[in-house]
Amino acid sequence: MSQQTEVDFFDGRDNQRHAVVVRMLDAMVIQEGEGTLARWPFAYVRLLPSAHGMARYGLADSDSLARLEVTDEMLIAAIKMHCPHLGRGEGAVASRRLTLRIVGWSLVAAASALGLVLYGLPVVADIVAPHVPQAVQYEIGEASAKQLKLVFHATTCRDAHGQAVLDRLVAKLATAGGLTRHLRPRVIKTTIPNAMALPGGRVFVFSKLLDEAQTPDELSGVIAHELGHEAHDDSMRRLIESSGTGFLLGMVFGDFTGSAGIVLAANTLITASYSRQAEKGADDFAIHVMTRLGRSPKPFGALLERITKGHDFPLAMSLLADHPLTEDRLADIAAHDVPDTGPPLLSTADWVALQTICAN
Ligand SMILES: [Zn+2]
Repeated sequence: MSQQTEVDFFDGRDNQRHAVVVRMLDAMVIQEGEGTLARWPFAYVRLLPSAHGMARYGLADSDSLARLEVTDEMLIAAIKMHCPHLGRGEGAVASRRLTLRIVGWSLVAAASALGLVLYGLPVVADIVAPHVPQAVQYEIGEASAKQLKLVFHATTCRDAHGQAVLDRLVAKLATAGGLTRHLRPRVIKTTIPNAMALPGGRVFVFSKLLDEAQTPDELSGVIAHELGHEAHDDSMRRLIESSGTGFLLGMVFGDFTGSAGIVLAANTLITASYSRQAEKGADDFAIHVMTRLGRSPKPFGALLERITKGHDFPLAMSLLADHPLTEDRLADIAAHDVPDTGPPLLSTADWVALQTICAN
């Protein structure tokens, strides 16, 4: 059976809309003119949140942000008939929660659109960022994670022992900082040292940072700093500040995770750098966490300094680009040096497991 209605397709690499024809063959085949843009196995097609009167589809278990937008009811019915797992997965759950929360959230967003006129964007971002619903953060976090891997040509490292060590370390640091939200830390394989906290509790440690770190305390300081950004909703604030009114209005109309918007949002999140004030806040959080665990924050500063000097990678994409390092920051971290009184954060065996998480 085949369907020939013209529909909109976004390949997920940019925000260009392609007019395509979808054929239901042995898979969902997406064609533009004579060319095939994508071939989606039926079992992997998922229904995504969308505005009323339109169905939006994506692909499960893939790093692609490709989206298909269909208004034709015949085609929607055909897709429903062929694809057995349309509503499966966390995205569908997030989507249902989204619908429930949208009314209350719209009021916040509408109020903030007014606040925008009265007070300006930074003030509004401060007010709105902590109140963005978890479901929205989840969607944006997922999209950003995919885009991050695309931009850095990175794959997720999946050694089970290493992952267990990372989970435990991040939980220990988060608990010490009083951060209770659900976190999903991952190591990705890269040639550039960086770490990133994205909405929805996504925490990424780049493997090159693991290589550069000489001790668990050095690495822990950087992760604690990222958790500080997470605790302060800095990534969401940064997104609202740089996307401005369009993003807020998108939220009011409930289609903020739209196909074009989500790619822009994801790119904004992974390329913009934090303000001086946000950096100070995240450093203070890291200093607090390390001190509470009876470990000096000084190694954290040492790692930052080492990355700055004698590097063999472009600084533009590194930790220092997203989190500008100033003399003030280093002096502040060094000023909180204390003798280590707490137990080591990782055993030698766990440290080795974490450092070799990408080996397999
Ligand atoms: Zn930072």
